[in-house]
Amino acid sequence: MRKDELTSLMRVNIRNLVPYSTARDEYQGDLGIFMDANESPYGFGGLNRYPSRSLRETLLGRLAEYRGVPKDMLFLGNGSDESIDLCFRVFCEPGVNNAVMIAPSYGMYSVCADINGVQRRQVQLREDFSLPVDALLEACDENTRLMFICSPNNPTGNAFPEKDLRMILDSFGGIVVLDEAYVDFAPEGSMKRLLEEYPNLVILQTLSKACGLAGLRIGMTIADPAIISVFDMVRYPYNIGTDTLKLALERLDPEKIKEETDTIVAQRSTLGARLEAFDCVEKVFPSDANFLLVRVKDPLGLYDHLIKDGIIVRNRSTVPGCLNCLRITIGTPQENERLLRSIEEYENPGLKPAQTAVAGRKACRERVTKETRIMVAVDLDGTGESEISTGLRFFDHMLEQIPHHGGISLTVKAEGDLDVDEHHTMEDVAITLGETLLEALGDRKGIERYGFTLPMDESEALVLLDLGGRVDFKWDVTFTREYVGDTPTEMFKHFFQSLCSAMRCNLHITAKGENNHHIAEAVFKAFARALRAAVRKDPFNFSVPSSKGVL
Ligand code: PMP
Repeated sequence: MRKDELTSLMRVNIRNLVPYSTARDEYQGDLGIFMDANESPYGFGGLNRYPSRSLRETLLGRLAEYRGVPKDMLFLGNGSDESIDLCFRVFCEPGVNNAVMIAPSYGMYSVCADINGVQRRQVQLREDFSLPVDALLEACDENTRLMFICSPNNPTGNAFPEKDLRMILDSFGGIVVLDEAYVDFAPEGSMKRLLEEYPNLVILQTLSKACGLAGLRIGMTIADPAIISVFDMVRYPYNIGTDTLKLALERLDPEKIKEETDTIVAQRSTLGARLEAFDCVEKVFPSDANFLLVRVKDPLGLYDHLIKDGIIVRNRSTVPGCLNCLRITIGTPQENERLLRSIEEYENPGLKPAQTAVAGRKACRERVTKETRIMVAVDLDGTGESEISTGLRFFDHMLEQIPHHGGISLTVKAEGDLDVDEHHTMEDVAITLGETLLEALGDRKGIERYGFTLPMDESEALVLLDLGGRVDFKWDVTFTREYVGDTPTEMFKHFFQSLCSAMRCNLHITAKGENNHHIAEAVFKAFARALRAAVRKDPFNFSVPSSKGVL
């Protein structure tokens, strides 16, 4: 297809569209007295103003560089879902045009077709999930404007080879929408190189998967500038909010994304191999994405068991082509362990938790109440790595001291009623952390049992710890500020007290200093050091560290 033929694929009303021009389109500076957009002159954080064009342009520039495409070939939408919808609105006349799409695939292609009054023609993938190129082309007629191909495909997980895509692009005269939401996990990488040869190719990518920013809702379309400029005319005037743009700029860290993607890809193969070993699993399909499609003997039975255990997977068992399949997203190593352990319990209902526990001094617990949902995973022989998110940034910073200085691996994920206050979240994290540490300690044979620390930083903190099983708590720490960051200082005593009783230990904490941040940090670091000393294990000592012989 020639570039100048692209416009003829667009709906007539879109070709003739006079777009809405915003106040910010007319004046693009950020400084001045703004009396042009009927905003309030009052507000906080600049949110009284509509999103600035320059901020959007800055993010566009960063993403264009990150994705290796020219800026005028990039469109930003409210998730790639917005781009899917725009494809229909720009190219398909309701009631006249139709769209061809592979099946099974991502559900929004057909939902958007239905919403836009566009006939959809679904073409089933072959049994081995390969692309039925001939059948796709046969499904097209002179009214077919769009063909949706998702690669790697959701939910089958496989990417399609370049030669198949070329065969379609060589023969189909409409727009080929290639959804590359999962492309970062695929060895072949993006097919963006085909854009030079095929101006009718529209590639969708997203920040929701490998980039870890699903909550922001930012999707990208990479296409010929003629298509991008029309998408920009048709989208809502300010489709991405100021805070979203700022957060995307702040959080987009290609190096970190690469590291995380590598971990997910490595976990994909270990998890796949270990899943395959279960009797209840019939087949794990090869995957180029961040999930595994798994055919099991009793999908509903396993699904229900996992839900009861607090693990949510996607049931695809009734989707044609995916009979009896569950789709499992790859989690952190700790979450994957937890999944495997739960399936082990499903297969062996008589097993006691101790028999099913993962090898080594590891434990993972989830605690769900009306107010909070907390997940904690601990590896006492870990490497100090951590993944902590409680919604309280200063508290996260304090909790990070425990793995870092304690030499253990720790994951804490908390969702709590922070809109009420911090109490339930901090208390329940403490209880779950204490219970998980207790479980990971197991029979405590060979541990040092006692820990203590010496003064640290310019603030002094002294933490005495005995893991002998008797519970006693002493606290002599004075804060002079009500809050440090977003975290109330009075909650630190409550945190350690709850941790102490859940962990069944003897814990005495004394600290003083001038700077409240430092006092808190010194307490957490000293606790971590005490814990490190107390849990340390002598591999040749199999006895219980007590003169009584029992703990
Ligand atoms: N494309 C595919 C193939 C998907 O699986 C999903 C979401 N699961 C999306 C697009 C939606 O992406 P976004 O969050 O950018 O709207």
